[in-house]
Amino acid sequence: DRVPLYVLAENCVDMLQLHAEKHQVTLDMEGEPCNILGNKEMIEETLYNLCDNAIRYNNPGGTVHVTVRPQGDKVLLKVADTGIGIPKEHQKRIFERFYRVDKSRSKATGGTGLGLAIVKHIVTQHGAELNLESEPGKGTTITILFENAEKSVTM
Ligand code: ATP
Ligand code: MG
Repeated sequence: DRVPLYVLAENCVDMLQLHAEKHQVTLDMEGEPCNILGNKEMIEETLYNLCDNAIRYNNPGGTVHVTVRPQGDKVLLKVADTGIGIPKEHQKRIFERFYRVDKSRSKATGGTGLGLAIVKHIVTQHGAELNLESEPGKGTTITILFENAEKSVTM
C-alpha cells in the first residue's frame, strides 16, 4: 500500500511531545510529502519502537530528532537521540530477540528486548535498508531507507 510516512511521523511525534515531559522531541521534514510503499500498521509499529527506545535510553533533558526526507529514489526515516548510546560490542546483537545491553538497567526501565527484533523483521519484509550508528555517552541514530511510492517502478 501507499503509506504517508510524513503523516505517521507527525502523529508519532505529536503523541510523544504530549507524553515525554523530560525530553525534547522534534520532527524535520524536508522536500515533498513522502509516501512509501508498505504496510501502515507495521510502519507505525516501527516508528513507535524506535522513538520509544530513543526516549527510554535517553538522559533527562535529552533530545529525540525524527527526520523524514527523500534520498535519491528512496525515502529516509531517521530517529536520532542524544542518549546513553550502545557500546560497539553490543551493536551487532541488539536486533536479536530478547537481547538487551544492560540487564540490571533493563529491569529498572522495563521492556522485553523485542522492539528492535520487530523493527528488523518489518524492515526486511519491506525490502528496506536499516543502519545503526551509536556512540556511548553521545547518542544513537537509526536510519531506514524505504521504497518511495512516487519513484517505485513496481507499482
Ligand atoms: P522493548 O521490547 O520494550 O522494546 P527493549 O527496548 O529492551 O524492550 P529493544 O527495543 O529491542 O528492546 O532494544 C534492545 C536493547 O538495545 C535495549 O535493551 C537497549 O539496551 C539497547 N537500545 C535500543 N535502542 C537504544 C537507544 N536508542 N539508545 C541506547 N540503547 C538502545
Ligand atoms: Mg525497545
